[in-house]
Amino acid sequence: MSLGAAWALPLANTTEEAIDLLAHGSPEYRGKTGRKTLLRGCCLYMISDPELTCIFESATHHYGVRYPGDMGEAGNYVCASNNDWCAYSYDDEDKFNTTEPMTKFGHVSAAPASLVRVTVDGKKSNWYRFWTLMEWCQHNYLNIDIASIQAFSTSHFYCDKNGARSDYFHDPTTKEWVEAKSSGFSVCQHQPLPDDHARGTKDVTIYELSKDGVNIYQTWGRPCEWDGPWDEYTPFKT
Ligand SMILES: [Zn+2]
Repeated sequence: MSLGAAWALPLANTTEEAIDLLAHGSPEYRGKTGRKTLLRGCCLYMISDPELTCIFESATHHYGVRYPGDMGEAGNYVCASNNDWCAYSYDDEDKFNTTEPMTKFGHVSAAPASLVRVTVDGKKSNWYRFWTLMEWCQHNYLNIDIASIQAFSTSHFYCDKNGARSDYFHDPTTKEWVEAKSSGFSVCQHQPLPDDHARGTKDVTIYELSKDGVNIYQTWGRPCEWDGPWDEYTPFKT
Protein backbone atom coordinates (compact mmCIF):
# COMPACT_ATOMS: atom_id res chain seq x y z
CA MET A 1 0.00 0.00 0.00
CA SER A 2 1.23 3.46 -0.86
CA LEU A 3 -0.24 6.36 1.07
CA GLY A 4 0.54 10.02 0.55
CA ALA A 5 0.28 12.96 -1.75
CA ALA A 6 1.93 11.94 -4.99
CA TRP A 7 1.37 10.42 -8.40
CA ALA A 8 0.13 7.07 -9.61
CA LEU A 9 1.60 5.51 -12.73
CA PRO A 10 -0.78 3.39 -14.85
CA LEU A 11 1.85 2.71 -17.54
CA ALA A 12 3.22 -0.67 -16.55
CA ASN A 13 1.91 -4.07 -15.49
CA THR A 14 4.03 -4.49 -12.38
CA THR A 15 5.87 -2.32 -9.89
CA GLU A 16 9.20 -3.57 -11.21
CA GLU A 17 8.25 -2.65 -14.78
CA ALA A 18 7.22 0.84 -13.66
CA ILE A 19 10.50 1.33 -11.79
CA ASP A 20 12.44 0.24 -14.86
CA LEU A 21 10.51 2.66 -17.11
CA LEU A 22 11.00 5.60 -14.75
CA ALA A 23 14.66 4.79 -14.19
CA HIS A 24 15.78 3.92 -17.69
CA GLY A 25 13.05 4.88 -20.15
CA SER A 26 12.00 2.52 -22.90
CA PRO A 27 14.50 0.65 -25.14
CA GLU A 28 13.41 2.97 -28.00
CA TYR A 29 14.15 6.03 -25.85
CA ARG A 30 17.60 4.76 -24.93
CA GLY A 31 18.32 3.88 -28.56
CA LYS A 32 17.39 7.31 -29.89
CA THR A 33 19.03 9.36 -27.13
CA GLY A 34 22.05 7.23 -26.31
CA ARG A 35 21.21 7.76 -22.64
CA LYS A 36 21.31 5.07 -19.98
CA THR A 37 18.64 6.70 -17.83
CA LEU A 38 15.50 8.75 -18.35
CA LEU A 39 15.57 12.54 -18.09
CA ARG A 40 12.77 13.26 -15.62
CA GLY A 41 11.11 15.99 -13.63
CA CYS A 42 11.43 16.28 -9.88
CA CYS A 43 8.55 14.47 -8.24
CA LEU A 44 7.51 11.35 -6.41
CA TYR A 45 5.81 8.35 -7.97
CA MET A 46 3.74 6.05 -5.77
CA ILE A 47 3.84 2.61 -7.35
CA SER A 48 1.96 -0.48 -6.24
CA ASP A 49 0.96 -3.85 -7.58
CA PRO A 50 -0.61 -6.63 -5.49
CA GLU A 51 2.84 -7.82 -4.39
CA LEU A 52 5.20 -4.87 -4.25
CA THR A 53 4.88 -1.19 -3.36
CA CYS A 54 7.46 1.59 -3.43
CA ILE A 55 8.07 5.31 -3.76
CA PHE A 56 10.19 6.30 -6.77
CA GLU A 57 12.05 9.49 -5.82
CA SER A 58 12.80 11.37 -9.01
CA ALA A 59 15.08 14.22 -10.01
CA THR A 60 16.22 15.21 -13.49
CA HIS A 61 19.55 13.37 -13.34
CA HIS A 62 19.09 11.16 -10.27
CA TYR A 63 16.67 8.68 -8.80
CA GLY A 64 16.18 6.41 -5.80
CA VAL A 65 13.54 3.90 -4.72
CA ARG A 66 12.10 3.53 -1.23
CA TYR A 67 10.53 0.28 -0.10
CA PRO A 68 8.50 -0.72 2.99
CA GLY A 69 10.78 -0.74 6.02
CA ASP A 70 13.32 1.74 4.70
CA MET A 71 11.92 4.48 6.93
CA GLY A 72 10.93 2.19 9.78
CA GLU A 73 7.50 1.24 8.46
CA ALA A 74 5.89 -1.50 10.55
CA GLY A 75 4.45 -3.44 7.61
CA ASN A 76 3.94 -3.61 3.88
CA TYR A 77 3.35 0.08 3.20
CA VAL A 78 5.27 3.24 2.32
CA CYS A 79 4.42 6.88 2.99
CA ALA A 80 5.29 10.02 1.03
CA SER A 81 4.63 13.72 1.42
CA ASN A 82 6.51 15.52 -1.35
CA ASN A 83 10.01 15.08 0.00
CA ASP A 84 12.86 12.69 -0.74
CA TRP A 85 14.40 10.45 1.90
CA CYS A 86 16.82 8.13 0.04
CA ALA A 87 20.36 8.49 1.39
CA TYR A 88 21.74 7.54 -2.02
CA SER A 89 20.94 8.01 -5.69
CA TYR A 90 21.60 6.55 -9.11
CA ASP A 91 23.05 9.10 -11.52
CA ASP A 92 22.79 9.63 -15.32
CA GLU A 93 25.09 6.66 -15.91
CA ASP A 94 22.93 4.53 -13.59
CA LYS A 95 25.76 4.41 -11.08
CA PHE A 96 24.92 4.06 -7.38
CA ASN A 97 26.42 6.74 -5.15
CA THR A 98 26.03 8.19 -1.66
CA THR A 99 27.73 11.49 -2.45
CA GLU A 100 24.56 12.87 -4.04
CA PRO A 101 21.67 11.46 -1.97
CA MET A 102 18.10 12.14 -3.06
CA THR A 103 17.71 14.31 0.05
CA LYS A 104 19.85 16.84 -1.82
CA PHE A 105 17.10 17.24 -4.43
CA GLY A 106 13.97 17.07 -2.34
CA HIS A 107 15.06 17.74 1.22
CA VAL A 108 12.37 18.61 3.72
CA SER A 109 14.03 21.92 4.54
CA ALA A 110 14.21 23.06 0.92
CA ALA A 111 11.23 25.41 0.78
CA PRO A 112 10.40 26.70 -2.71
CA ALA A 113 11.48 30.28 -3.33
CA SER A 114 8.00 31.29 -4.44
CA LEU A 115 6.32 29.99 -1.31
CA VAL A 116 3.37 32.10 -0.29
CA ARG A 117 2.05 31.90 3.22
CA VAL A 118 -0.23 28.94 2.73
CA THR A 119 1.53 27.24 5.63
CA VAL A 120 2.95 28.68 8.81
CA ASP A 121 6.35 27.23 8.00
CA GLY A 122 6.67 25.74 4.52
CA LYS A 123 10.00 24.18 5.43
CA LYS A 124 8.28 21.85 7.87
CA SER A 125 4.99 21.18 6.12
CA ASN A 126 6.10 18.04 4.29
CA TRP A 127 8.09 16.84 7.29
CA TYR A 128 5.14 16.92 9.69
CA ARG A 129 2.72 15.43 7.15
CA PHE A 130 5.13 12.55 6.51
CA TRP A 131 5.36 11.62 10.20
CA THR A 132 1.60 12.08 10.59
CA LEU A 133 1.09 9.52 7.80
CA MET A 134 3.66 7.20 9.35
CA GLU A 135 2.08 7.40 12.80
CA TRP A 136 -1.42 6.73 11.46
CA CYS A 137 -0.29 3.76 9.34
CA GLN A 138 1.66 2.22 12.19
CA HIS A 139 -1.35 2.34 14.53
CA ASN A 140 -3.91 1.23 11.96
CA TYR A 141 -1.93 -1.27 9.91
CA LEU A 142 -4.02 -4.32 8.89
CA ASN A 143 -7.20 -2.36 9.68
CA ILE A 144 -6.92 0.23 6.90
CA ASP A 145 -9.71 0.39 4.35
CA ILE A 146 -11.27 3.02 2.11
CA ALA A 147 -13.57 4.34 4.84
CA SER A 148 -10.73 4.74 7.35
CA ILE A 149 -8.52 6.54 4.80
CA GLN A 150 -11.42 8.86 3.96
CA ALA A 151 -11.90 9.63 7.65
CA PHE A 152 -8.15 10.18 8.15
CA SER A 153 -8.16 12.56 5.17
CA THR A 154 -10.37 14.93 7.14
CA SER A 155 -8.04 15.01 10.15
CA HIS A 156 -6.70 18.30 11.52
CA PHE A 157 -3.88 17.15 13.80
CA TYR A 158 -0.24 16.50 13.03
CA CYS A 159 2.49 14.33 14.54
CA ASP A 160 6.23 14.73 14.92
CA LYS A 161 8.89 12.08 14.34
CA ASN A 162 8.28 10.60 17.79
CA GLY A 163 4.54 10.28 17.18
CA ALA A 164 3.62 13.13 19.52
CA ARG A 165 0.27 14.53 18.38
CA SER A 166 -0.61 18.23 18.20
CA ASP A 167 -4.13 19.53 17.81
CA TYR A 168 -3.21 23.19 18.34
CA PHE A 169 -0.34 25.27 17.08
CA HIS A 170 1.31 28.46 18.35
CA ASP A 171 1.49 30.71 15.31
CA PRO A 172 4.85 32.53 15.51
CA THR A 173 3.49 35.44 13.47
CA THR A 174 0.27 36.17 15.31
CA LYS A 175 1.41 34.73 18.67
CA GLU A 176 -1.99 33.05 18.89
CA TRP A 177 -2.83 29.43 19.60
CA VAL A 178 -4.79 28.17 16.59
CA GLU A 179 -6.23 24.85 15.49
CA ALA A 180 -3.52 22.71 13.91
CA LYS A 181 -5.40 22.65 10.60
CA SER A 182 -4.25 26.26 10.08
CA SER A 183 -0.58 25.34 10.43
CA GLY A 184 -0.39 23.62 7.04
CA PHE A 185 1.06 20.53 8.72
CA SER A 186 -2.11 18.44 8.96
CA VAL A 187 -3.40 16.01 6.33
CA CYS A 188 -6.46 18.19 5.68
CA GLN A 189 -4.88 21.59 5.15
CA HIS A 190 -6.36 25.03 5.67
CA GLN A 191 -4.72 28.43 5.29
CA PRO A 192 -3.46 30.44 8.24
CA LEU A 193 -6.20 32.59 9.75
CA PRO A 194 -8.05 34.46 8.40
CA ASP A 195 -8.76 31.69 5.91
CA ASP A 196 -9.92 33.33 2.67
CA HIS A 197 -10.47 29.99 0.87
CA ALA A 198 -8.40 31.41 -2.01
CA ARG A 199 -5.76 28.67 -2.16
CA GLY A 200 -4.37 25.70 -0.36
CA THR A 201 -7.36 23.47 -0.97
CA LYS A 202 -6.27 19.87 -1.19
CA ASP A 203 -8.11 17.39 -3.32
CA VAL A 204 -7.72 13.85 -2.02
CA THR A 205 -7.58 10.88 -4.37
CA ILE A 206 -7.50 7.26 -3.23
CA TYR A 207 -6.40 4.59 -5.70
CA GLU A 208 -7.62 1.13 -4.71
CA LEU A 209 -6.11 -1.87 -6.44
CA SER A 210 -8.56 -4.72 -6.98
CA LYS A 211 -8.62 -7.85 -9.09
CA ASP A 212 -10.90 -5.99 -11.50
CA GLY A 213 -8.63 -2.98 -11.99
CA VAL A 214 -8.28 0.33 -10.14
CA ASN A 215 -11.02 2.09 -8.21
CA ILE A 216 -10.60 5.81 -7.62
CA TYR A 217 -12.27 7.78 -4.83
CA GLN A 218 -11.95 11.55 -4.87
CA THR A 219 -12.97 14.80 -3.26
CA TRP A 220 -12.65 18.18 -4.92
CA GLY A 221 -11.22 20.57 -2.39
CA ARG A 222 -10.81 19.86 1.30
CA PRO A 223 -12.15 16.50 2.41
CA CYS A 224 -13.55 17.93 5.66
CA GLU A 225 -15.79 20.24 3.62
CA TRP A 226 -16.95 17.55 1.18
CA ASP A 227 -20.66 16.78 1.52
CA GLY A 228 -21.91 13.27 0.82
CA PRO A 229 -20.23 10.21 -0.71
CA TRP A 230 -16.92 10.72 -2.47
CA ASP A 231 -16.87 10.69 -6.28
CA GLU A 232 -15.93 7.26 -7.62
CA TYR A 233 -14.29 6.26 -10.92
CA THR A 234 -13.09 3.00 -12.41
CA PRO A 235 -10.99 4.13 -15.41
CA PHE A 236 -8.59 1.19 -15.53
CA LYS A 237 -10.92 -1.80 -15.67
CA THR A 238 -9.16 -5.03 -16.53
ZN1 LIG B 1 -10.14 20.38 6.95
